[in-house]
Amino acid sequence: MQRLMATLDRIDCKGYGAYKDLSGSHDFGSFTLSVDRVQRDPFAPPSLIRVRTKENVFGRDLFAGPVRRVAFEDFLTRSVEKAIRRVVRGNRGSGGSGRVEIQRTSQVVLPRTSMVVAPEYVEARMAVGLPARGRSVDARAAKAVLLEELPEVVRRSLVPAPEGDVDEESARLHVEAVEDANHLRGLLSRLGLVAFVADGAILPRESGASDRPLGDSAVPFVSPEEYRMEVDLQNAGVVTGMGVPEGVTLVAGGGFHGKSTLLSALSWGVYDHVPGDGRELVVARGDAVKIRAEDGRSVSGVDISAMIGELPGGRSTEDFSTTNASGSTSQATNIAEAIEAGTSLLLVDEDTSATNFMIRDERMRELVRSEPISPFIDLVRPLHRSLGVSTVVVVGGVGDYLDVADRVILLEDYAPSDGTPRAREVTEKFPPRAPLAPGDARQPHERAIDASSVDLRRGKRQSARGRGLHTIELGRERVDLSYLEQLAEAGQTEAAARIIGEWVASGEVRGMRDLLMGALASVSENSLDSLGGHGGHPGEMSQPRAHELAAAINRIRPLRACPQT
Ligand code: ADP
Ligand code: MG
Repeated sequence: MQRLMATLDRIDCKGYGAYKDLSGSHDFGSFTLSVDRVQRDPFAPPSLIRVRTKENVFGRDLFAGPVRRVAFEDFLTRSVEKAIRRVVRGNRGSGGSGRVEIQRTSQVVLPRTSMVVAPEYVEARMAVGLPARGRSVDARAAKAVLLEELPEVVRRSLVPAPEGDVDEESARLHVEAVEDANHLRGLLSRLGLVAFVADGAILPRESGASDRPLGDSAVPFVSPEEYRMEVDLQNAGVVTGMGVPEGVTLVAGGGFHGKSTLLSALSWGVYDHVPGDGRELVVARGDAVKIRAEDGRSVSGVDISAMIGELPGGRSTEDFSTTNASGSTSQATNIAEAIEAGTSLLLVDEDTSATNFMIRDERMRELVRSEPISPFIDLVRPLHRSLGVSTVVVVGGVGDYLDVADRVILLEDYAPSDGTPRAREVTEKFPPRAPLAPGDARQPHERAIDASSVDLRRGKRQSARGRGLHTIELGRERVDLSYLEQLAEAGQTEAAARIIGEWVASGEVRGMRDLLMGALASVSENSLDSLGGHGGHPGEMSQPRAHELAAAINRIRPLRACPQT
């Protein structure tokens, strides 16, 4: 600390580059500060630091086993976030001077690089805008940030009471909630379910732009008797809620009655949520994929032949490529890719689907004879029967789906009821529809993808970086992830970018599945830090799922893929 102070005195008012002298480790008594990367100027991305406590005096139960450890790390990241907001003044000069940050979190709990809880220490990775007046070092402001604010942030957020401000009881509740959700998700398969929604859950969100729970006007979830079941959880004890069985489930109801809200909650059920979110005990199979139309996306060698036959000009759909997919071909592609990456649950909302992919009515069949699309309505049952892939589909307008549903959940004023008996009565009134697809579905051909089709060069540098939540930059190429509805935070985008970067650098032709499984196995074995290069602050990353990683690769426009032999 003395040395840091002396260095700051020495470089005061010098050119900003003099901050380089802060690099390395500094002993602060109860913790060590490591300055890993010093920014070039006050306007550049902030400097990267780590703070490591000298011991870990938190109760061991808070981080026993990987699930609890990840949950506790998440708790501490949020704790640092809160302390920064209370303690750090922020703007102290030009550019980012005086800013202190930790990786931004979302409503979900994920492994992140922002925090490491080890038996001997707790380490937080942060970013600091080293203060400048114009472009020169402002030592007085730097002292305030590094020697006053930072130690206070550490005391408030990384040290348990009574010395610090961390309440171990809140931490325990956080960890236990995550543990229960995780356990519940693990039970689904055994119970023959694809999802579970606990009674009392709050599904609606504050607004289209916010993932926080809707306030007082939210109607808590009440399960319909027919689907009500009990689960016994380690911490919460016996919980009741709606079990959604495998097979084809229709969510029906009038407009604005909460159908999309329910489906969206299921799609986020692949992740664990923070206490207070309202969806703590809303879980779905971890490999569930929300499917939508996405016209304009590029497609590289995907086998959509089970859904779409020969295209105009005799183009085959077993090895379908385009730089500009239509609504229906993009939706078929999204399904084929989700199956390729190993999904067991498709979540489909009429609102975001291509009509001609969902259904074709009799008049249109009569008029258009050369339609290559087998509508989804004729695929949902074969998908389950032949491939074990279940579907939850939200329908407001297309009653034909009643014919193919194993069950119907009817939403009225946000309250679900079992609409299956009524649906049976209704379908008996109409002649059965003749299916337009073969009776069985098959696995799409697997693909091999070629790393040499992607060029990471950007000027003199190579780049594979995340740019916010929705964009990956690969060399001069920008990969658009705007339509990935289950991408939770920018850290996942960053991690996916780095994984893609490593693969491209290897120059290999790899089977898609093989690449996904290999990359994620390596991350879980060596931690996310291993994507950050050598030692020190690895950058801000969160764990992506195989499905978002696959989706990112699949949207690289120049990607070359061929059927795997
Ligand atoms: P649908 O898809 O049936 O048309 P949405 O799911 O889009 O309906 O919901 C319509 C509106 O109702 C949204 O603004 C949503 O936030 C709100 N909403 C949904 N579920 C609830 C609920 N349980 N309590 C209060 N508001 C809700
Ligand atoms: Mg809707």
